[in-house]
Order: sequence, then C-alpha cells, then structure tokens
Amino acid sequence: MENIADFKEIADGIKEKGGEAFKYCYQCGLCDTVCPWNRVRTFSMRKLIRQAAFGLTEIETEEIWRCTTCGRCPQKCPRGVGIIEVGIASRRLATEFGVFPAPVRPVRGVSSSLSVEGNPLNGERNNRANWAEGLSVKTFTEGMEILYFPCCYLSYDPRLQRVARATANILNNAGVDFGILGAMENCCGESIRKTGEEELFKRLARENIKSFIGHGVKKILVSSPHCYHAFKNEYAEFKVNFEVVHISQFLFELIREGRLALKKELVKKITYHDPCYLGRHNGIYDEPREALKKIPGVQLSEMPDSRVDSLCCGGGGGRIWMETPKGERFSDLRLDQAVGIGAEMLVTSCPYCITNFEDSRMNRENSDSLKVSDITEVFQEVI
Ligand code: SF4
Ligand code: SF4
Repeated sequence: MENIADFKEIADGIKEKGGEAFKYCYQCGLCDTVCPWNRVRTFSMRKLIRQAAFGLTEIETEEIWRCTTCGRCPQKCPRGVGIIEVGIASRRLATEFGVFPAPVRPVRGVSSSLSVEGNPLNGERNNRANWAEGLSVKTFTEGMEILYFPCCYLSYDPRLQRVARATANILNNAGVDFGILGAMENCCGESIRKTGEEELFKRLARENIKSFIGHGVKKILVSSPHCYHAFKNEYAEFKVNFEVVHISQFLFELIREGRLALKKELVKKITYHDPCYLGRHNGIYDEPREALKKIPGVQLSEMPDSRVDSLCCGGGGGRIWMETPKGERFSDLRLDQAVGIGAEMLVTSCPYCITNFEDSRMNRENSDSLKVSDITEVFQEVI
C-alpha cells in the first residue's frame, strides 16, 4: 500500500508541475517514430509518458533528461499531448529532489553560474560587453531604434563572439541605430527552464524585464532562437509584450528596404539548417532562406530533413550542457546530410547549433571541406 501511495505521489507531483497532459496519451508510439534519438540509440518518449501516468517515473536515470524539446513529436501526436511539458515536469521533480545522473551533473554548475553571474558560462558579469571592444557599439538609451541582445554564448564564447561582432558590423553598415545593455542584462533563461529550474528562470526573466522597462526598450533584436522564444512567448507570462525580431528576419528586412547593400558575390554551395526554436517552435523558415538567396553567386540547396522536419542539432532543452557520447550526437548526422548534398557551407542561425556543428566538424576527416557559419558571418563577407 505504501508503494502505491508513492506512485500516486510521483504522478501527482508531475501533474502539479505542469505535466498533466499525459492523461490524453493513448500509447500509439508515433512520437517515437520521429524522435531523433531513435536514429542514434533506443529511446521512448511514449514509455516515459506511460510511466508518468502511473507514477513510475525513474527520476534517477538519464532518460527523463534526453528530450531536446526539439518539437518534432508534438507536431505528430494525434492526441495533442503536451509531450515536452510532461518531460519538463519530470525534470522539475528530479531537480526538486536534487537527483542528477552523471551526464546531467554539469547543469548544477550552470545553474550556479546563472545565479551569480547571469550567464551559464562562468563569465564575469562585468565582461559581458567585452565582445564589442573596438567596434562602434553604444549602450542602449531610450529612443534608439532597437536593443541588440546578443545572448550569453555570443557574449562570452570565443567562437560565437565572432558572430556578435559580425552582427554589429552589419548593423553599423546598414546605419541601424542600436545599443546593447551589456552587464545590465541576464541570460534569457529559456534553456535552464527546460531543465526544470523554474524559479531560476523566473528570477532571470524578472530582472531582464525590469532592465528592459527601465531603459525604455520597445524592440529587441536577438541572435539566438532561444532568446527569441523566451522574449516572445515565455516573457508574455509576466504580462509584458516586447517586439522581438530575430537577426535572420532583420537581415531580410534590411535588404528588402535597401538599407543593406550586398556589394560582393559568394560563389558557394550553401545549405541552411533550421534551428528547432526558430523553425518548428516559431515558424520562421522563409526569411533566412530568402535573405541568403539575395547574395549573388549563392547556390542554396536543401538537406533531406529541412523546414518543419529539420533534424535537431541536439542542443535544446538544456542538452547543450549535458554530455552526449560520440555516436549519439545528432549533429554528426546533420553534417553527413550537408556533405551528402555537396554543400560547402552549412549555415544556421543559433549558437547551440553552431557549437554542436563545429564540434562535429572538428571530429571529421577533411574537417576543412565544410564550413559552419552563422547567417551573419555569411553576410559580413558580402557587404
Ligand atoms: S504520439 Fe501522442 S498519443 Fe501517441 S504515444 Fe506519443 S504522446 Fe502518446
Ligand atoms: S521533442 Fe524531440 S527530442 Fe523530445 S521526445 Fe519529442 S522528438 Fe524526441
């Protein structure tokens, strides 16, 4: 009897934490047929949902931490089950009990870095704007056209700082009146929320909102689809509504309005990877492609899994901070697809995708035969 009470407690705990949607599941298994994990190993979201319904969730194993929240299976579910929500609710329970299997343990360090410095990379808060040194980048003041929010990875990671600098160069070239908040901003909190750290997400979000309102921010330009998703969809829970634009949309707009002139050609075979949080979660598929097509000389081809079927890079849902062994990395498969269609450049628009693709590229033979670029790095070459 005691055990039954325990099971009920777990099922109730998951329900309480937002995972109630499991009750609609009728175990058809369609979710498993599209999940990218099943291309690299066995994994069953269907089973996790079943376990949640019966209070049998095993919070001590890695299984509940696998979902990258890529959004592929919810689109296929015939019962409209909030599959991602069930997974996050299980993680909230595990986080509450402080249970983290070995590959997930790095998340604890990430949480403390976020609490202390406002970023997941252990960077000092005061160094947040260092990427902009030597460029004409001002501090945001009320009345400017747009706030540029570069994201933690673009602020601190040396590979991705190149993307922040490319963005600033493009904005300056197009005469955009923009500013940054540097040390006065935090991580958007989107990914730590998906690991079950709800309170930390709320704290980061509230502080950002206070800073945005305090500085008179109306329109925010972001480089990361995760910041886009947080500001546009998740911060709305705090009853605020900022205009949010992703750089791929803004680039297209700048070209269309004649503010950004493309002066050079780029004779290359390019393919574009849709980041999950830009494509599936927010429906932005066309602008990056349309912008790239405007570059003289570019030959744009599609990979086998593109647009709504895009293959996740493996970095969402906090997986960017967890350990994924060689042989189980979705990004390796994505690079095979890019090489398979003869692409010379794999272009994307998300810091997690770039990080994972660069790791995969370095581990390939002939690593220099494929270039991994953010969309802004491509445009920087042609203006
Ligand atoms: S696709 Fe939906 S209904 Fe089918 S097993 Fe998965 S969650 Fe359940
Ligand atoms: S959201 Fe993506 S990673 Fe998560 S279970 Fe569904 S298909 Fe798999």
